[in-house]
Amino acid sequence: MKKSRRKFLVGSVLTAGAAAIPGVRHAKWNSQSFEREGYLLQDFESGSKKNLWLNWSGLHKSTPKRIVEPEDEAELQQLLKESVGPIRPLGSGHSFSPLVPSEGTIIKLNRFNGLKSFNAKNQIATFGAGTNLMQAARELNGAGLAFPNLPDVDVQTLAGSFSTATHGTGRELTALHDYISGFKLITVDGEVLRVNSTSHPDLFSAGKVSLGALGILVEYSLKLVPAFSLRRRVWLQPIDELLEESENLSRKYRNFEFYYFPGTGYAAGITHDIFSGPVEGRDPGEDEEMLESLRQLRDVFGWSPWLRRRLFKQSAPIGLVEDSTDESWRLLSTHRPTRFNEIEYELPADKGIEVIREVIRILDSRKEVFFPIEARYIAKDDAWLSPFNDGNRFAISVHAAVNESFDYFYEILEPLFRNAGGRPHWGKLHSLRYNELSKEYPMLNQFADLQKELDPQGKLLNPHLSQILGLSK
Ligand SMILES: Cc1cc2nc3c(=O)[nH]c(=O)nc-3n(C[C@H](O)[C@H](O)[C@H](O)COP(=O)(O)OP(=O)(O)OC[C@H]3O[C@@H](n4cnc5c(N)ncnc54)[C@H](O)[C@@H]3O)c2cc1C
Repeated sequence: MKKSRRKFLVGSVLTAGAAAIPGVRHAKWNSQSFEREGYLLQDFESGSKKNLWLNWSGLHKSTPKRIVEPEDEAELQQLLKESVGPIRPLGSGHSFSPLVPSEGTIIKLNRFNGLKSFNAKNQIATFGAGTNLMQAARELNGAGLAFPNLPDVDVQTLAGSFSTATHGTGRELTALHDYISGFKLITVDGEVLRVNSTSHPDLFSAGKVSLGALGILVEYSLKLVPAFSLRRRVWLQPIDELLEESENLSRKYRNFEFYYFPGTGYAAGITHDIFSGPVEGRDPGEDEEMLESLRQLRDVFGWSPWLRRRLFKQSAPIGLVEDSTDESWRLLSTHRPTRFNEIEYELPADKGIEVIREVIRILDSRKEVFFPIEARYIAKDDAWLSPFNDGNRFAISVHAAVNESFDYFYEILEPLFRNAGGRPHWGKLHSLRYNELSKEYPMLNQFADLQKELDPQGKLLNPHLSQILGLSK
């Protein structure tokens, strides 16, 4: 069953095609730069310089007075009492929104790490909040347990993922924070709170997606499922056909998502379904080669939409490109070494297809865009700040290469998403402030009140959080 044929033959087609096409439009296209103003590669290179903090995409930086890694709860409590604000907890730094930057104190929770206990009978496991998803998934697998779902990558920490409502895809599958059955929070004045739905109902509902604004999370108890295997299929198909089938596919398969390749007319569909029997494993992905080919196609043939589409059709591996089986945690997340910036809005489920059609139309008309657009399904939960707390949603994620401009995220896409009732992903780029967000999140006001109650001096607030929550120090 194991099958992988993702090789994209674009290299040879590009060379032959480019040589055959002289002309002014081609030359003009070749001489333009896609580089974003203000992009500095050296920021990544000097990232290890003491106290310069950068998020994963390098878009946000800060030079805190100190970056600290407390050893244990006692040290953390002491640190919180004596630290200069803003005090911001850090996970793996994979958020695109500026939730973490601080000119005061950044606290890394990587020592609060690993599986502490588990009960295979009731499938509850307790972890340090700084454990990353990959480590947690591996440890769970050893205990015969698994996360029901995972996001695209698994390097985020538990606290970081939950705090921004990180999710995978699956019509019946909720975002990750919905697995939380309890947590331990250290407030900014050092008080230790053990929280669950009966001990502190409001704090429990608010703390599942906390934006790191309520205190420092040091431990989670999670309700999980028995370990399981999946069969993964990936195929390339004309986008018009895939859009017609999308709703049915999302009902038919446990996990379904698709990526549209701008300027090509084609998309990749991905499904996962429960698999029983011996698994064969997955060949290392060729997603990065695909991405590089899409970039080259844009670089050389972006000036001619017709040629770009035609060459994609000729050179891409249309049809089934992957059919593999493995343990769930090995298939659900992949590696994303190529850095990018990203906007994501969660649309009401019944608006998703209509809105993504429009996104595709808009981005197809922008010749510079090449990064795949991702579409996913997420089920309802009940956390106060969950984008999914009023019903199932359809997530649309648009990416731009890390060194390229993304002004159109705000100028063109965000108004479209908002008009359709979309809510922004807390960990991705958006420009919304309290006034706009409070219309979308009925509990935002209560969340802000709780924040003030737990942190009266606003020591946890950085400028972004103050704007989101409508709070000042
Ligand atoms: C390559 C890539 C792929 C991604 N894929 C997906 C995806 O498939 N689905 C999806 O929904 N999102 C995705 N994201 C977004 C990402 O999952 C979120 O932004 C997530 O919050 C990042 O986790 P982190 O550990 O890096 O947290 P950080 O970005 O470091 O922090 C996120 C928030 O958590 C808070 N926080 C961290 N630790 C603690 C703590 N101990 N106590 C209290 N607060 C804390 C921080 O203060 C901050 O507010 C992706 C991002 C990247 C870069």
